[in-house]
Amino acid sequence: MAQQEDQFKRVISHAKEYGYIFQSSEIYDGLSAVYDYAQNGVELKKNIRDYWWKAMVQMHENIVGLDASILMHPTTWKASGHVDAFNDPLIDNKDSKKRYRADVLIEDYCAKIEAKITKEIAKASKRFGETFDKEQYVATNPRVIGYQEKINMIVSRMARALELEDLADVKLLIEELGIADPLTGSKNWTDVKQFNLMFGTQLGASADNSMEVYLRPETAQGIFVNFLNVQKTGRMKIPFGIAQTGKAFRNEIVARQFIFRMREFEQMEMQFFVKPGTQKKWYEHWKEKRLQWHLSLGLGKENYRFHDHDKLAHYADAAADIEFRFPFGFKELEGIHSRTDFDLKAHEEYSGKKLHYFDHEENKNYTPYVVETSIGLDRMFLAVFSNSLVEESLENNTKRTVLKLPAVLAPTKAAILPLVKKDGLPEIAREIVEDLKWDFPIFYDEKDAVGKRYRRQDAVGTPFCITVDHDTIEDQTVTIRHRDSMKQERVLISDLKEIIKKEVGFKSWLMKI
Ligand code: ATP
Repeated sequence: MAQQEDQFKRVISHAKEYGYIFQSSEIYDGLSAVYDYAQNGVELKKNIRDYWWKAMVQMHENIVGLDASILMHPTTWKASGHVDAFNDPLIDNKDSKKRYRADVLIEDYCAKIEAKITKEIAKASKRFGETFDKEQYVATNPRVIGYQEKINMIVSRMARALELEDLADVKLLIEELGIADPLTGSKNWTDVKQFNLMFGTQLGASADNSMEVYLRPETAQGIFVNFLNVQKTGRMKIPFGIAQTGKAFRNEIVARQFIFRMREFEQMEMQFFVKPGTQKKWYEHWKEKRLQWHLSLGLGKENYRFHDHDKLAHYADAAADIEFRFPFGFKELEGIHSRTDFDLKAHEEYSGKKLHYFDHEENKNYTPYVVETSIGLDRMFLAVFSNSLVEESLENNTKRTVLKLPAVLAPTKAAILPLVKKDGLPEIAREIVEDLKWDFPIFYDEKDAVGKRYRRQDAVGTPFCITVDHDTIEDQTVTIRHRDSMKQERVLISDLKEIIKKEVGFKSWLMKI
C-alpha cells in the first residue's frame, strides 16, 4: 500500500516537474480538483484524443464526428434524467468534518476484502507450486468462498438500497460493517444525503429574462439532440455512430485523486445507433473493440479488466466498465453502456419533435437503440502516464527515470543534440530540425553534457535522441538513440524521417486494433 502511494506521489511530482500538469490557479493555492495541462501535457493529451478520434471516426465509414456546445437548453437535462437523478450519496464525518461518497466508502471496504482473497491465492500458489489450479482453489477454498460471499452480500445490498433510494439503509450498512473515516478512524457519521452533481449558471444579462442553464455533465446529450440532423444531412444508415470529444463538468463530492476525478474534465464519447433487438450484439462488439484499442498501446494486458455493473443506471439494459490498474488499484477508465432507446424517446417526449429513423430495408419507422462508449480523456492520460513512469537500475549502479510513453503518444518525437556547441555541429543540428519539424514535433538542445541531455529526454518521454558529432561533417551520419533500450545506431541523416515515422506514425499502432 505504502509502495503504491509512493508511486502515485512520484507520478504527481513528475507530471509537474516535467511540464505535464499543473494545479489550476496555483499562485492562489489552487482550485480543488481542477488542473491545467502544461507544455508537454497538452501535447500528450492531444495525441491521446487524436488516437481515439482516428480509431473511432477515421477508421469507420459509419462513424462521424460532432462538436456540440457545452451549454444546452435546460430541458435537455430534464429529459436526460440529470436534474432528478444525477446524484451521488454523500456522507459527512461529524468529527473530522470530511465529506465522502457513501458508495465509495463501501466499495473501498469490498476492495480490502478482495485484497485478502488475492493474498490467499498468492500464498496457496506458493505452497502448491506448479500443480496450483487457481480456478479450483477459488471455487473450493472455504476462506476464499467466505470472503467472496461477503462481498456479494454487501454489493447487492448497496445496489438495492441505492435503487430504492433507501439512504437510511446505506448508512446502516456503513455502520454494520464498522467503516471508519479513512483519514481519522472516526465512526461518527451523519445521515446519507443525495447531492446533485451539475453546475448551474445564468444565461442572459437581466434578472427578468435570464434562464438557469447547466454546464453539461456529459457530452452524450449533445449527440442525442443532434441525432436527426446528423442522420439526415449525412444520409447515415443504421447502424451508425456519432463521436465527440469535449469538456464536461461535475461538482464531484470527493476529488482527491489528482486527475482521476476532476470537476472539469474531458470526455471522448461515441453513441452507436442500432436497430432495436440488436443492441446486445453491438454491446459485445464495442466492449471487445474498445479493449483492443487499449491493448494496442501496449500498457500490458494484465492491467485491464472488465467490471459488469451490478446497479444499472436509469437508462441502461447492460453496462460494463473497462478498469485499469492505476497506482491506487483497479478503477474505472471507460464505460460501455447499452442505453436502449431511453434518451431519444425522452427527448421526443420533452421536445415534442419526432426522432425516428426510417429503415428502408424493413420499410418501417423506429426509435433506434444506442450503445455508448465513454472514456475520460484525463483518466486515460493518467493511465498512460502512470504506467509509463519507471525507474531503472543500470549496469553501472546508477538509476535512470524514464517515461516510456507509447511513441505514438509522446509529446516530442525526437531531440536533436549537437555533441558540442562549436565546430559547426549546432548548425548541422539546426538543419536537421528544420527538415524534420514539418513532420514531427522536434526539440533542440545544446546545453550540458550529452549524457545529461539523454537523461532529460528519457524523463520527459522522447522516443529518440539524435546526436550530431564530428563524423557527421564527414559522412552525413548521426547517432540515433532509442529511449527504452538505450541502443545507439549510426544512420544517414537522409534516413531519419523514415526511421522515426515507422515508430511514431499512427498506422503501425492502429493496425493492431
Ligand atoms: P465514476 O463512477 O468514476 O464517478 P461514472 O461512472 O460516473 O464514473 P460516466 O458517467 O460513465 O462515469 O463517465 C464516463 C467516463 O468519464 C468515465 O469512465 C471516466 O473515465 C470519465 N469521468 C467521469 N467522471 C469523471 C471525473 N470527475 N473526472 C475525470 N473523468 C471522469
